[in-house]
Amino acid sequence: MKEALEEVFAEVSRNRDYAVNILTNLIKIRAVNPAFGGEGEFKRCLYLEKVLRELSPDSLQIIDVPDSRVPEGVRRNIVAIFEGSTRERLWIIAHTDTVPEGDRSLWKSDPYTPIISDGKIFGRGAEDNGQAIASSILAVKALRDAGIKPRVRIGLVFAADEEAGSTYGIKALMRRNTFGKSDLIVVPDAGSPKGDFIEVAEKHILWLKITVVGRQAHASMPHMGINAHRIGMKFALLLDEVLHAKFHERNELFSPPTSTFEPTKKEKNIDNVNTIPGVDVVYFDCRVLPGYDLNEVLEIVHTLKENFEKVYRVRINVEVIARSEAPPPTSPQSKVVQKLKTAIKLVTGLDARVGGIGGGTFAAIFRRVGYQAAVWSTVDETAHQPNEYARIANILQDAKVFATMALI
Ligand SMILES: [Zn+2]
Repeated sequence: MKEALEEVFAEVSRNRDYAVNILTNLIKIRAVNPAFGGEGEFKRCLYLEKVLRELSPDSLQIIDVPDSRVPEGVRRNIVAIFEGSTRERLWIIAHTDTVPEGDRSLWKSDPYTPIISDGKIFGRGAEDNGQAIASSILAVKALRDAGIKPRVRIGLVFAADEEAGSTYGIKALMRRNTFGKSDLIVVPDAGSPKGDFIEVAEKHILWLKITVVGRQAHASMPHMGINAHRIGMKFALLLDEVLHAKFHERNELFSPPTSTFEPTKKEKNIDNVNTIPGVDVVYFDCRVLPGYDLNEVLEIVHTLKENFEKVYRVRINVEVIARSEAPPPTSPQSKVVQKLKTAIKLVTGLDARVGGIGGGTFAAIFRRVGYQAAVWSTVDETAHQPNEYARIANILQDAKVFATMALI
């Protein structure tokens, strides 16, 4: 075993540029999720199909899910299987879509022109989730180049639509019975800088859209209107404080150990400075510890809304735009967690911690229907940030861990 591992690790290192090339090619194919006005998953898939075919998979399935928002009319998913010497299956599941670049002025380089500097590859989607695509392919490539047949079958899944709910991605694949309950399922879509954190639990997720409706007026005549923007700001700040005070429990299994309530997106109100806005829209992203009930959170929001409506003579509309109750956690004793721990120890020498995060990754979808899925990767946690990057060393380390999992 030791010899086989060393051979495979040597092949991983030898194929460094191969993996770098895959990730830089992916970054060049802009694939912002259509929910955020983008496209490109399909083009990424065309490229990945070519890369996978060169590795002669035992089967390569293309699953297209209709979606009229994209030029191709379908959202493409890829499932590639590489046979092992047993029937046991190891799935490594990554997503092809990305979030938008955000405020362009915060980027030091073009988000869709990959830059390699200081051992890092910069670009939107580099870490989330391009790194996982590159590292999982690299694991298979290294096994192939070393001429070693894995013990388990390896299934690589490159799925669409993770950043906006996975309806056109993993959820569609699950309806086709792609996965089995005894399969090992690894989702490399979160982790820690050393690669010593295995995520098995998630928080509840609640996204709120809060619309304050006042009355528009000339800015010099505030008595003629009701400034929705001022009241919207007050509401958001107070809601922020009240939620943090009320839901203050800690659970050290999670990182961070508290519930989080963040005012995030702010919708544009008016074009000119000299008009009092009649409408104000702000969004909240809430990640709530599973010990709480999301209905309690919503009750607080509604109480505050009613108070504000009375005091400020506005109408406040609270819309739940996403809600997901935390699924039952993956057992720290499950086969996938145990194997992952063993592989991490063999590759890095580290004893991995097992814990929870704010979610939500693919893993929640699996856990909800009783599959044991583990989230793991080695990341600096630059996902969704300007100047997102993936460390080349992390790609190699993750590939070694995946290859080890396939051998032990
Ligand atoms: Zn991701």
